Amino acid sequence: MPSSRRLYDAARKVMPSGVNSPVRYYSPHPFFVARAKGGHIWSAENKRMLDLCNGYGALLLGHARREVVSAVSRQLGRGTLYCAPTAMETELASMVSKHYPSMRKVRLVNTGGEATMTAIRLARGHTGRKKIVKFEGCYHGAHDSVLVRAGSGSAHSGIPVSKGGLDYASRQTLVARYNDFGGIERVLEGDGDIAGVIIEPIMANMGLVLPAKGFLAHVRKLTSKHGIPLIFDEVVTGFRVSMGGAQAHFGIRPDITTLAKALGGGFGIAAVGGSRKIMDNLSPAGKVYQASTFAGNPVAVSAALASIKAMAKAGPRMYPRLERYCARLAKGIDDIATDLGIPHQINFASSMMQVFFTGTPVTDHATSAVADGTKFRKLFLALLKAGVFVAPSQYETVFLSDAHTAADMDAVLGAYGSALGAVKR
Ligand code: PLP
Repeated sequence: MPSSRRLYDAARKVMPSGVNSPVRYYSPHPFFVARAKGGHIWSAENKRMLDLCNGYGALLLGHARREVVSAVSRQLGRGTLYCAPTAMETELASMVSKHYPSMRKVRLVNTGGEATMTAIRLARGHTGRKKIVKFEGCYHGAHDSVLVRAGSGSAHSGIPVSKGGLDYASRQTLVARYNDFGGIERVLEGDGDIAGVIIEPIMANMGLVLPAKGFLAHVRKLTSKHGIPLIFDEVVTGFRVSMGGAQAHFGIRPDITTLAKALGGGFGIAAVGGSRKIMDNLSPAGKVYQASTFAGNPVAVSAALASIKAMAKAGPRMYPRLERYCARLAKGIDDIATDLGIPHQINFASSMMQVFFTGTPVTDHATSAVADGTKFRKLFLALLKAGVFVAPSQYETVFLSDAHTAADMDAVLGAYGSALGAVKR
């Protein structure tokens, strides 16, 4: 069996840095994956690990969930790509609208980045204005308008604006501070050319950062006052925080919503939706152009239909159970780190959590960015050694899945115990 080291050496000869997405890399080299099932992932060396990276949040139902695998297997025999409409797409759009009433009409796309790109173009086309407001540390995909002081791999790699990005596009993006009530007010009041405000209702790309009480309502109120479409990027929070996402959880109705990750149960599918008036701007009837060969492909659509049904069925027990697990982890890790005298903060919500090595509360990009990355790296490597896979960056989030059990949480706490010991040394 080739080792991850050997597989990595071969990979980097033919792929930049040997990976297909930057945050997957860490030195000396990432572990290579042999397979995954439920709450676990196996390395090329056949080491079994609890997976709390969880497809960066996509695998709310766990790996290879039975209902999803059966639906996809059935579909494979019927064809994998039609590029002509199917009844399944209408069923999926209706289901999305049912759980997200703000998404009266839906267009299916393939990735979260494609969804936010479409949402922004729609906001511009709808208003006839140019500028977009985003929040520092929020990540919305790897395209020019939003790759401006973004979180996730972009913050991890220290690339606030990508080389090769179009200056003209990024200059149309204004940046506000997350949880700064006055800041967003000043930005919106100071410019009459704002087409849209895009926000992660819970920020999951600078570690996990929660909206301050009333912040989202404040942003909603201001955007309504100025007639600016509010875009909720629910690529992470959609279906994860509740069946209706963060908008149901916080009781806020955005104008445009993007969904991906948990929607597809491990398959590449995303959605953008909003009111009829906004969505009917899309081509062919409207003048906002958007298109994709693979959009609405029957394999991904069958996976999404099966996922939504499985989440709806499991939901009443799953959401409260994962919330309890997460609270337990946060409390347990807090106790261990406190006993060891390691300055730390823990943010958690629903089935998401992150530990920051800093003495001050993490409420925005600036307070997250000062957390000790060297300590986090030690934690990450020690967790791996102890059999727990979390994302290899403090700017990502720990995600639980429906496949995780109470016994898994004991194991995770044990692993954090030994890993925090290593951080202390
Ligand atoms: N929006 C958010 C909130 C995300 O976390 C991500 C990716 O992590 C994206 C958009 C981009 O999604 P994708 O990687 O599918 O393009």
